[in-house]
This record gives sequence, C-alpha cells and structure tokens, in this order.
Amino acid sequence: MVIDFYSHVCPRNLMEALRDEYASDESAALFRKPYLYDAEKRIAFMDEVGIDMQVLVMVRPPMWLGMPRDVMYRMLRTAHDGIAAMVEAHPSRFAGVAVAPRVDDTVLEELRRAWDELGLRGVLRASRPRSACLRCNTCDGFPCLVHAKSDAEVIGVRPVLGLENVTLLVGAEVLSLRTDSGGSRVSTVVVSRGGKTEEYSADIVILSAGAANSARILLRSASDQHPNGLANSSDQVGRNYMFHNSTAVAALAKEPNEPVYQKPLGLNDFSLAPDDRPPLGNIQMLGKSNAMAMKGEEPKLTMLAPHWSLEDVARHSVDIWLTTEDLPMPGNRITVDGDGKIHLSYTATNKVQTAGLYEELKTILNKVGMAAHHVYDKNFYMNMAIPLAGVAHQAGTCRFGTDPSTSVANTDCRAHGIDNLYFADASIFPSIGAVNPALTVMANAIRVADHLAERLS
Ligand SMILES: Cc1cc2nc3c(=O)[nH]c(=O)nc-3n(C[C@H](O)[C@H](O)[C@H](O)COP(=O)(O)OP(=O)(O)OC[C@H]3O[C@@H](n4cnc5c(N)ncnc54)[C@H](O)[C@@H]3O)c2cc1C
Repeated sequence: MVIDFYSHVCPRNLMEALRDEYASDESAALFRKPYLYDAEKRIAFMDEVGIDMQVLVMVRPPMWLGMPRDVMYRMLRTAHDGIAAMVEAHPSRFAGVAVAPRVDDTVLEELRRAWDELGLRGVLRASRPRSACLRCNTCDGFPCLVHAKSDAEVIGVRPVLGLENVTLLVGAEVLSLRTDSGGSRVSTVVVSRGGKTEEYSADIVILSAGAANSARILLRSASDQHPNGLANSSDQVGRNYMFHNSTAVAALAKEPNEPVYQKPLGLNDFSLAPDDRPPLGNIQMLGKSNAMAMKGEEPKLTMLAPHWSLEDVARHSVDIWLTTEDLPMPGNRITVDGDGKIHLSYTATNKVQTAGLYEELKTILNKVGMAAHHVYDKNFYMNMAIPLAGVAHQAGTCRFGTDPSTSVANTDCRAHGIDNLYFADASIFPSIGAVNPALTVMANAIRVADHLAERLS
C-alpha cells in the first residue's frame, strides 16, 4: 500500500466559513485550488499516480496568524469537522490529522474532541512564525547558537535574566543541603564555585538537578538528624531509577531521504495493544543520521567502511527511535560513595516488549519497501559500559506519592518531612511511560510553580 502521509487539505466548509467570517486574499487564493477541498478530484489524482491512501493535514499554518482567538477556535472546529467528513466519506482513501495553531486549554479540548469523537489520528503543531532558525543540521541534541530552539535556555532562563530579583550563578555545583536545628527546614545550600565553598540560604529551596544528581545531593546531605540522607527516612531516595528501553533504528530506503528535520512524526498505536498483550511503546522519528555520527555510534560496525559508503547509507537512512517503558524497580538505584561518585545498579525490565516493538517496526518497514535485512539497529540499551547518551531520559529516584513510607515527596513535590524543600525535575516520576519525558518535566515544574506562588502569597 502506498501512503502519502502528509497531504495538504483545506476542507470546503472551512473555505466557506473563512469567506464569510474572515475573508482575506489568502482564503480567496485557497478557494482557487479545488484540489485542496474536492475529494473526488483528489482521489482521481491519487489513482493516476498510484497512491492508495493520503493522510490529510491542514494547509498553510500562517492562515491562523492574527486571527481573533474566538474566530480561530470556531474555524478550528470547522476544519476538524471538514477533515473528518472527508475521511468518513472515503475511509479507505483518507485518514486525517488535527491542527493546533496554538496550545491552550480550548485547543487541547478541541484536540481531544478531534481524536475521541472525530477519529483524527494525530496533530500538526503550527510552529513559531518568525523563528531565527537557520535550518542547520545540528538541531537534535545540540544547544542552538542562534537561540531559535524552544529549549529551557531560550524559553525559561533568558527571558528572566534581566529581572532585579533573579541571579544566575554559572559554574556552581551544589554539594549538599543542611537543615536547621529542628531538622525540618533546609537552612543552607552548600555550593562549590571557582574552587571555593559558598553558602546560600532561601525561604524555599527547589531541587532540580535531574534524576541522578538530585538523589546524589540528598544522599550527600546526610547528617545526625538525617543519617540516611535528607528526605530519606523511607529509604526511597535513589531508588526506582528509570531511563526507557530505547532503540535507535536506521532503516535504509531505496530512495534518498534528505530532510533537515525528520523528527515530528510519532506513533502511539502500539502503546495500547488491541488484545491482552502488554503495551509495547512508542515509535517516533529520530534526528537525521550523518556519516560522522554513525562512525561515533557504531565504531566497530563501521570501522572498515570507507567514509563515502557511510555517507551513502546516511543519505538513504530513515532514522527511527523506539521507546518501551522501563518499569520502576526499587533495586534499580543510585548510590553515592565516600568521594561523592554516583554508582548505578540496574537490571533491565520489559525486554520482551522492547523486542516486540522492534518486530512490529520491521513488519511495517517491510511493507513500505525497506527490507528486513536492510534494517540495522543502534541499540542504546543499558549496560554499565553505556555512553552517557544512554541515560538521556533518566527519571525516578525521588518519586512523589501520598504515602511517606513509599515516596520521597508529596503530590505538591514537597519533600516529606522537610517544609521548604521542593523538587522540579524528572526525579519525581513514579513511572516513566513510553514517551519522551521533557514536556512532563516542564508541565510539572509549572504546576509546582503555581503551588509555590499560592504558598508565598
Ligand atoms: C541528547 C538528548 C536528547 C534528548 N531529546 C529529548 C527529546 O527529544 N524529547 C524529550 O522529551 N526529552 C529529550 N531528552 C531528555 C530531556 O532532556 C530530559 O528528560 C530533561 O531535560 C530532564 O529534565 P530535568 O530537569 O530532570 O534534568 P536536566 O534537564 O538534566 O537538568 C538538570 C540540571 O541540573 C544541573 N545540575 C546537576 N547536578 C548539579 C549540581 N550538583 N549542582 C548544580 N547544578 C546541577 C545540570 O547541569 C542540569 O542543568 C534528551 C536528552 C538528551 C541528553
């Protein structure tokens, strides 16, 4: 089956609604292209060029720019209704994708309607209209030198640096936290900076050093009052470390595959298996391979390959990332030795599901003409010799919960028994699911911030 999985559409009902409510040169221009809304013409064209099915995606992201919010919400519903109607009329020829011109509660509710009630199968997120992006090929996994990426530095840190009550200390490592004489408040943050030890104090202290390092700081903060480490009366600090069962797969296509960004596609179809099988996980695109990265990731496999052949492989590769949930196990844990070095004890979970997801992917790839013997995997599965990249998705170690005997923090992410210590990172995850963690880390940080704003007021 040949599927065109990104085919622009502007359904007729939306065209008409735009003409009536928000006429512009742009909507008039769209109307002059019947292919965008006429399903019969579209199907005739698909038959002519041998396309079995199209995934319909809204045309022209800029059309939403400047539109008053209430009109945009109405047009969005109209667009989704129109795409769903085209799919309903021709279910064997079309599948549909929703669009999110912005992300807010109303749009999220509309996305829920589009998926649950209209049966649309994904979402197109309209991106920043005036980005400084140069479309270079070092986006995935690199800091952006022109600040075009919506990462924590660009979105979170830079905008607040000019505020009078914000100070950013660089090159500062938190060594430990000390409590007051009662043992229930953090009184001092001990920091190493420029070869010196410094001490800071604050009404509220938020730990967000990432799963491994937040646990490390707590374990290094052992004192007479907290002999097993701070917030560790339950002996849970450092436990339930998770990092995802991830497999990177390079599938070779017969045709060259040379996009700058191939990441936006993801499938959760195997997260909830239709039968009684346990969930297998998520399939998503990975940043584009290049010859140098392949040499770095697979030095043995590529040792004898001349550079030109790797370049050829990279040019034809479709790079895919598979994620299966890694289960929280108390024995999978971080400990810290007398020198402050982190040790990780880890036994893999969900191996059968990880292998099952790979088999599902190979079945799909074979069907689209990427033969099984052309699929090789760059498996970042955990072993102790793994490079640091393998722990990119680390989570757990300070799980939150309602029972202080089985968790480190309460549901506000405040450490049990320590009144002014909060967490805002992946350490609080009680489980990791099978999708990338960063958005959950961010969403939870906003939730903790809301709680703190209320508490401080
Ligand atoms: C190459 C790469 C690609 C990734 N791609 C994706 C992706 O596409 N999607 C996704 O969802 N996730 C992705 N991730 C994972 C994502 O980055 C993490 O899940 C997320 O950043 C975790 O947030 P965090 O706040 O827990 O920790 P971090 O973002 O790691 O923040 C912890 C911070 O604490 C600092 N720190 C640590 N110890 C100390 C100390 N003792 N004193 C002072 N500071 C300290 C660290 O320097 C760091 O700045 C990727 C990760 C990597 C490495």
